[in-house]
Amino acid sequence: MEDKMYEGKAKILYNTNDVNVSLMHFKDDITAGDGVKHDTMTNKGKLNCTISKKIFEYLDTCRGISTHYISSPQANEQLVKKLHILPIEVIVRNIAAGSICKRYGVRKGHTFKTPLIELFYKDDELHDPLVRDDVILEMEWCDSTQLSEIKNQALNIHNKMTEYWNHYELTLVDAKYEFGIDHNGNIMLADEVTPDSCRLWDKDGASLDKDVFRQGTDMDKVSTVYNYIHDLIQADNID
Ligand code: C5P
Repeated sequence: MEDKMYEGKAKILYNTNDVNVSLMHFKDDITAGDGVKHDTMTNKGKLNCTISKKIFEYLDTCRGISTHYISSPQANEQLVKKLHILPIEVIVRNIAAGSICKRYGVRKGHTFKTPLIELFYKDDELHDPLVRDDVILEMEWCDSTQLSEIKNQALNIHNKMTEYWNHYELTLVDAKYEFGIDHNGNIMLADEVTPDSCRLWDKDGASLDKDVFRQGTDMDKVSTVYNYIHDLIQADNID
């Protein structure tokens, strides 16, 4: 029987019998606004787990990117490498939406000249504040080599994901990436890549991601969007 290591808003991480492997359970919960808005959605755990599995397999197999993903023994569970998760969220933005619009008064839909990186300190009590590099280094949340590495990896992954979603005629607006370090010191992509962690717009600018939940009340609409993304990427393999 596995024991619980950590429970977040959308996932639970368990220890397994293998010290180098964790079990990640995807919950049906959906939250927004720092957990202030909360609901559950039938099958959300299975949908996000399957979407993230498909994307992590693509990044690994087709693009040579290291991730924590090992296998998916159940539709809402993944075995993942046990990592020391760096407490930094790397957000990469192609187009302005969400918090950056409020922070700097930039118009929603403004396209950045080059993908823009912002770093946030992962801490629920502090509401995940935006952080500068020198604060990260001073607080020793990671060292300077690791900081360069996660920025480089995030940009590389983001470019691959931009191409990936383009293949489906969707625009990747922004995305959040998390990284961890394994017992050999290797840094790799962790957590999930799903409609919870990125913004996707169709050709008409309609959202196909968690913004549908953030901005609305119709859970059937939210469910339709997650099912749409799930079915879309299951249908074929990009190489
Ligand atoms: O809220 P903000 O506009 O900064 O979010 C940028 C991107 O990062 C969005 O795609 C959002 O879903 C994602 N994000 C996330 N987890 C957070 C904060 C943001 O997945 N804690």
